[in-house]
Amino acid sequence: MTLSSKDREIIENSIRDIKDFPKAGIVFKDITTLLNDKEAYGVLMGHLHQKYKGCNLDYIAGIDARGFIFGAALAQMLGIGFVPIRKKGKLPYTTISEKYALEYGIDEIEVHIDAFSGIPNAKVLLIDDLIATGGTANAAAKLIKQAGAQCVEACFIIELSFLDGAKKLSETSPVYSVVKVS
Ligand code: AMP
Repeated sequence: MTLSSKDREIIENSIRDIKDFPKAGIVFKDITTLLNDKEAYGVLMGHLHQKYKGCNLDYIAGIDARGFIFGAALAQMLGIGFVPIRKKGKLPYTTISEKYALEYGIDEIEVHIDAFSGIPNAKVLLIDDLIATGGTANAAAKLIKQAGAQCVEACFIIELSFLDGAKKLSETSPVYSVVKVS
């Protein structure tokens, strides 16, 4: 289901650019203004619901923390379960984890070992607010596989196309981005 250019514009216009946050040279894409705008949030979630309702998904997996907001809402709309993929040390039960490179240093995300065990070879949609270098999403897709499920698509509200993260990730799983920033 394609998004009309009018609806894409409503979503684009609701996202606020914060220059030099969290450090000089970065333009931070602030989605709190999208969430705050009932029309834009509604258009976005309605679009994602239409797009994924026929896909027979078993779970949505959202990346810590802004992926939870969109992922949990979408899971409810689709009538399926939600799985949080969290930064290291936040999940209380046994986890599996994956390290990934940041610009400076490394980070690590985790998922509960039994997160997808309710459904054999579960079909999972991975979701986050934004893909930049793709390091986080790539690690999350690996975790889904290690946990015995399949990442059938990775979905982002915003893609920073100039960083090529989505292009790289698309070599291992299909990628859908609502808004592309070039
Ligand atoms: P990456 O692993 O480089 O693809 O970074 C993606 C993660 O960092 C996502 O969870 C985003 O929420 C966050 N992120 C990276 N760059 C930005 C940005 N310019 N604006 C907002 N969030 C960002």
